[in-house]
Amino acid sequence: MDGRGLLKNKKRIVVKIGTSTITQERTGALNLSKLDKLALILTDLRNQGKEVVLVSSGAIGVGRKFLGLKTKPEEKALKQACAAVGQARLMSVYQKLFAEYNQSLAQVLMTKYTMLNDISRENAQSTFRELLNMHIIPVVNENDTVSTDEIEFGDNDTLSALVAALIHADLLILMSDIDGLYTDDPSKNPEASFISIVGKIDETICNMGKDTATGLGTGGMATKIAAARIATDSGADMVIVNGKDIHILEDVLEGKNVGTLFKAHKNENFDLMDYIATKQYPRDHFDRV
Ligand code: GLU
Repeated sequence: MDGRGLLKNKKRIVVKIGTSTITQERTGALNLSKLDKLALILTDLRNQGKEVVLVSSGAIGVGRKFLGLKTKPEEKALKQACAAVGQARLMSVYQKLFAEYNQSLAQVLMTKYTMLNDISRENAQSTFRELLNMHIIPVVNENDTVSTDEIEFGDNDTLSALVAALIHADLLILMSDIDGLYTDDPSKNPEASFISIVGKIDETICNMGKDTATGLGTGGMATKIAAARIATDSGADMVIVNGKDIHILEDVLEGKNVGTLFKAHKNENFDLMDYIATKQYPRDHFDRV
């Protein structure tokens, strides 16, 4: 058994969806039929008794589209204004689509500070617990409007892995615009071969993570491998799939051979707080904020 069959039994699932997956490639507008299918599939998972968390990007992209900006905003204040506009619009679309299936949602916006400060982190953890107990699907994003360089996660691949670790999820699914992990960048090297299962994230695997950021999203393969390290060390399997066809989510949970599966190997020495803190700051910096 390669571990695929076990994916059926997963109980607490975090699904991360990227901006390029939920928007139209040509216009940047929301892809409503795709979002509708997402709402249906996630509600069905809920109805099967699974606990589901959705980490959705798109705030900046949706805001930018609404405000009529032709190019990706570079300036911080403009990006944050786009996020403020876009997050509200994104949530209202999600609310409407999920309401059709009678599924309640909640919005959870986080910064790195939420994870590093003991009280904030525990509050976030108990909020997730309450929401999941009430069969609500939390919709998570970074709080881009207040994030600064010092306290931002920067990409939702990392954020979703941290959320998976925080809530002790047993599966994280990253939906983006790439099929999964290749030995090399397939757009540049025709010899590149696809990797279906990763048992251990070693140096060879890390070297395959050349960054291939998309036009709209933020995370490339390197951030996905970093996310896989957090998720698998904390005890969750992680699957990277191409969200072109949203039904691939069902394929993953039926144990079909799609995307790249990174198998969980709980590391007793893995300390979530140390991981986040040492990425940029010593932890006591945040205790003083
Ligand atoms: N938080 C950003 C947004 O909602 C997305 C970050 C990412 O693409 O990973 O626009």
